[in-house]
Amino acid sequence: MNIKFCLAVLAALMIASVPAGAQSKLNVIATTEDLGSIAREVGGDHITLDSIAKGYQDPHFVEAKPSFILKLQKADVLIVIGRDLEIGWLPPLIQQSRNAKVQVGADGYLDASLQARILEIPQGQVTRAEGDVHPLGNPHYWLDPENGKIIAREIFDRFVKLRPNDRAYFEPRLNDFVSRLNEAEKRWVAMMAPYKGIKVVTYHRSYSNFAERFGLTIADFVEPKPGIPPTPQHTLDVINGMKQSNIKLVLVEPYFDLKTPNAIGRQTGGEVLVMPPSVGGVKEITDYFKLFDYDLNLLVEAIKKTGAK
Ligand SMILES: [Zn+2]
Repeated sequence: MNIKFCLAVLAALMIASVPAGAQSKLNVIATTEDLGSIAREVGGDHITLDSIAKGYQDPHFVEAKPSFILKLQKADVLIVIGRDLEIGWLPPLIQQSRNAKVQVGADGYLDASLQARILEIPQGQVTRAEGDVHPLGNPHYWLDPENGKIIAREIFDRFVKLRPNDRAYFEPRLNDFVSRLNEAEKRWVAMMAPYKGIKVVTYHRSYSNFAERFGLTIADFVEPKPGIPPTPQHTLDVINGMKQSNIKLVLVEPYFDLKTPNAIGRQTGGEVLVMPPSVGGVKEITDYFKLFDYDLNLLVEAIKKTGAK
């Protein structure tokens, strides 16, 4: 077979795979399963979807596999968390995909953080020199359902820009998602209302938006700084602080070693909870709604069990 013939066959196959008059499905890649879940809500079966980081992985530190480059090569849209969350692994993948559609600044590149409520934006000069992995504010903003709605609207706007003919399909899906989320949020806030101000320690600074929405007070972190592993001195400070303030709960993201949290738990009589901050963090958390259902149920059970205040 000569090369011209091969190309002709390939072209014919490509044409055959798209029905006449119809647009092909928008090929969406999300960097996390949280963004993937929201994209699916809006995009339904008019998109194909893949997420890169799994919910049980630390989204700051994902192993960049060659298969991710192949996914990006075929993508129409790449949705990212932004705020430098993916800075350690995503830029080379985007570059090596050589896909103009998803390069930073292209219509197919969507930074979902741009309209969201971002907490802890540092003042003044910020560097990553000290290892802080949150140099542009807290990137775990999806853990507030209010931000979930904002992300969904941004995804909707971008999908419509790229597939204007599909507006009538995407729009009711967006509206339905927002209204279900409004209902669920009322239920979640009511669940937590009796425990307003409850003090907790978390391993990483993942739960700032979550705490703001659901009335938790995060008193300290097992990490001395976001992305910096625990040190003996800092661990001692955490233990003393928990004893002084009678804090009984330590929340740990599933991808961190439990050795230090368990030691803190033993020293303080506190409960260590493995609490997934993402869709896919455990198999029960199959979508954005189940993320809050799971985490808030876990939290309420532990509060009741420990009598934490
Ligand atoms: Zn982080």
